[in-house]
Amino acid sequence: MKYVSTRGASNLGHFSEVLLTGLAPDGGLAMPERIPAFSPAELEELRPLSYPELAYAVMRPFIDDIPEADLRRILSSTYTEAAFHSPEITPLTRLGNSELYVLELSNGPSLAFKDIAMQFLGQVFEYTLGQRDQHLNILGATSGDTGSAAEYAMLGKARVNVFMLSPHGRMSPFQQAQMFSLNEPNIVNIAIEGVFDDCQDLVKEVNADAQFKHNYHIGAVNSINWARVMAQAVYYFKAYFALGLPAGALADFSVPSGNFGNVFAGYLAKLMGLPVGKLIVASNENDVLHEFFATGNYHVRPAAQVTQTSSPSMDIGKASNFERYLYLITGGDGTQTLSWWAEVGAGRPVKLASSAHWDSVKASGLLGSRSTHAERLDTIRRIDAQFGRLIDPHTADGVLAGERFQRPGVPMVCLETALPAKFEETVQEALHRRAERPARFVGIEQAPKHFVVLPNDVQTLKGFIAQKLG
Ligand SMILES: *Cc1c(COP(=O)(O)O)cnc(C)c1O
Repeated sequence: MKYVSTRGASNLGHFSEVLLTGLAPDGGLAMPERIPAFSPAELEELRPLSYPELAYAVMRPFIDDIPEADLRRILSSTYTEAAFHSPEITPLTRLGNSELYVLELSNGPSLAFKDIAMQFLGQVFEYTLGQRDQHLNILGATSGDTGSAAEYAMLGKARVNVFMLSPHGRMSPFQQAQMFSLNEPNIVNIAIEGVFDDCQDLVKEVNADAQFKHNYHIGAVNSINWARVMAQAVYYFKAYFALGLPAGALADFSVPSGNFGNVFAGYLAKLMGLPVGKLIVASNENDVLHEFFATGNYHVRPAAQVTQTSSPSMDIGKASNFERYLYLITGGDGTQTLSWWAEVGAGRPVKLASSAHWDSVKASGLLGSRSTHAERLDTIRRIDAQFGRLIDPHTADGVLAGERFQRPGVPMVCLETALPAKFEETVQEALHRRAERPARFVGIEQAPKHFVVLPNDVQTLKGFIAQKLG
């Protein structure tokens, strides 16, 4: 399988290349040149598979440059009960007798769904770099969960260094402690004086400097990395089969969304033939995506207009993976996508409402929802009281969106993107009690912190990286 860029470049190489390079040279995102689909009969064969076997079946069409035995070994050492605290890896639980389900994605090392893709990334990086005798310096941006998931995934990986940017003072104390307590030579925490979008823009700016990127072997683990998107498609299949529906019956999914990586993976699963009905893109007060699905206008917000909310991992004004979605909506037209992103780059809205593309958006099954802090607290309270189930604020955004769009007879699977222990202040505010914390994280805020603070300035950042790497 060859990869192409959403902005038209046609020769990005095969899986291992796009794994290691992040953004395409033309500034676009890597996409497979086509998306293979399972026939209904082939889907039935996937039903009984274990998580690692299913992951192999779903990912294999996109990876033709790792031998079968090696890929199977990578997947079976990634998706273990030891790492994810469940033999099913992503267990599905029903809320009472309702048609609402919670897909548990947050039982991994950092307690957020990002572990599922990131643990794979850690293993496949180590393998690929070993094959090529190369090293990689990962430059990432996090509003909280990406950073800790990436750092836990890269711990002890000899061929990988991590430079992780986070918005200074804007993460929860627990998230901050998860990252900053790590004292490992290959993990460098950089607190940027700015918001998450500033961090993300810095990563893009560094990547736009081809010479620097080449000299310092810069790679990405952000949700723009194709391997992450692909790895996330697997749990949609797993959840669908766990519902035990008759062949071909539809299931809807509701997905707490920020950078659009998780819900895009659901769309990928749908294009691969999984009977997915609606995909609800749940947002918080930062409602760029909700606005798009309601009006057809995609109007990104500058960093200064991104509000800090109680579901902070969704505080995003510009959703990177959305470019992949619109690219697919055009039927893979890189020229069209390029011209849209020129508008986005200039801060102007892209307006689809009266174009033929809008019909494709409608047909795609994606819908938007928006919720507020008060609704989040109310949802946490209701789900706790009604079903005895404590959910985190991001999952609450998703559950509320799921309830809004529920259809009779169609199960609604709500993705649990973090454990409530990660966001205990909001849980405390909603329920006046603490969320239980896994023993390994008790008292973590008291551990010494390892990080540097840098201004929101790309030259300073480049200088820092260059000096660190000698
Ligand atoms: C990252 C994250 C999200 C948003 O996921 P995207 O793939 O960026 O849309 C939602 N909830 C939590 C808890 C997260 O960590």
